[in-house]
Amino acid sequence: MKKAVALLSGGFDSLLAVRIMQKQGFEVVGLNVITPFCDTSSAALEAAEMLGIECRVLRTDDSYLELVRHPKYGYGKGVNPCLDCHLFMIHRAKELMEELGAEIVITGEVIGQRPMSQQRHHLEMLDYHSGISGRLVRPICGKLLPPTEAELIGIVDREQLYALSGRGRAPLHQLGEQLDVPKIKSAMAGCVLTEISFAPRVRDLIRHENEMTEMWEYEILRFGRHIRFDRETRIVVGRRESDCDFLSAKFRECCARRSDVMYWEPESFMGPSVMLIGRIDEETKRFALNVQVGYSKNAVPGNIVFHRYFQTEDWIEPFEPTEGFDHKQFRPM
Ligand code: SF4
Repeated sequence: MKKAVALLSGGFDSLLAVRIMQKQGFEVVGLNVITPFCDTSSAALEAAEMLGIECRVLRTDDSYLELVRHPKYGYGKGVNPCLDCHLFMIHRAKELMEELGAEIVITGEVIGQRPMSQQRHHLEMLDYHSGISGRLVRPICGKLLPPTEAELIGIVDREQLYALSGRGRAPLHQLGEQLDVPKIKSAMAGCVLTEISFAPRVRDLIRHENEMTEMWEYEILRFGRHIRFDRETRIVVGRRESDCDFLSAKFRECCARRSDVMYWEPESFMGPSVMLIGRIDEETKRFALNVQVGYSKNAVPGNIVFHRYFQTEDWIEPFEPTEGFDHKQFRPM
C-alpha cells in the first residue's frame, strides 16, 4: 500500500488533506509537532483516532528556538516565524517519510488562506527548500499548483486533488461533508507567537538570554505574569492554578542543577506561586515575595508563611511585606 506522512495539527484542513489521500488509497501516518509555543497534540491524536490513522507526536528541540530568534523569512504580526516554522515541520515530516519508506508528505495548506505563509509563492518556496521537492503534496489546493513529481509519475492522481483557495471556510466545509470528514468538537488552542500581546515576553527573553538559558524558559512564557526586575532577573507569578502546576512541574523537572532559579508556594494563605530566575539574593527575593503577596487577596500581614522549594530542599519561611510596596508599579510583560 502507498504511504503518506501528513503534518497533522488536528485542525479541519489537516483532516481534510488526510481524507483526500485516504480516498486515493494511501495509508497515512500523521505527524504532530509540539513547539514551546503551540501544543495541538491532543487535538491531533483525537483527529487521528477519528480518521483511523497512526499519529506520531514530536517535541521540538533547541534548534527550533534558533528560528524564533533569527527567522530567515521574518515574523508575522506577532513574533511568529511561520515560514521558517513550516519548513522546520516539513523537514521533520521528511525524516519520518524516509524512516517509514513513505512516498509523499502532505499538508492541509490552502493557497491564500494565511497572508504570512500560504500565498502561492510561499508554497513554492517551501517546496523548493523542503528537500523533498516534488514529493510535497497539498491535496486541498494541489490543482492550482504545478504538477508535482508524485503526480507526474502516477503515485498521486491529480484528478482527485482539489482547487480550493482563499480565506472562506464554506467551500472547505462543503468538501468535508462530501468526503465524510469527521466534525471536530473541541476548539484548538492556537500558537501564542501570533498574539501581539505575547510578543514582548519573547523579545525580552531573547534580549536577555545568556549561556544558561534553556528551552523550558521559553515554555513557561505561556504561563502566569512575567515581570522583569533587572537585566539578569525576572519573576513569574502564577495567575491560575494551572500556571502554578506548570511552573512547579518545570521547576522540579528542569532546575535541579540551576542555582539561579527558585520556586515557592504560599503555605499560610491562598495565593499564587512564584518563580525567581536570575540573580538570587535578599533584594530580589524580597521583591518577588512582595509582588506575590500583592497578588494574593488572602495574605494577612503577620501571618505570611511560604513553602519554599529550592533544589531538593523544602522548608518553611515566614515573611513580613515591605510597607508601602505597590506591586502594580511593576507591570507584567
Ligand atoms: S502559527 Fe506558530 S506553530 Fe503555526 S506555523 Fe506559525 S509559528 Fe509555527
